[in-house]
Amino acid sequence: MAKTFTCRDAGLVGCGFRASGQTEDEVVTKAVAHARQRHGVDLTQAKTLERYARSAIREDSGRRGGR
Ligand SMILES: [Zn+2]
Repeated sequence: MAKTFTCRDAGLVGCGFRASGQTEDEVVTKAVAHARQRHGVDLTQAKTLERYARSAIREDSGRRGGR
């Protein structure tokens, strides 16, 4: 089952970013790259944020579709 992270789930309402992958690490890697480029946040330097991002990852049942 795929893992999904969205900025909205992390509290970044207004950002439609969505990352998905087969593993948590894959999703976090994508989220880190996105956060650095779009939000100017380096999640690798902010361990609490990284942990928070991981906690925001959820199992993607496929019900939400996505684009
Ligand atoms: Zn974002």
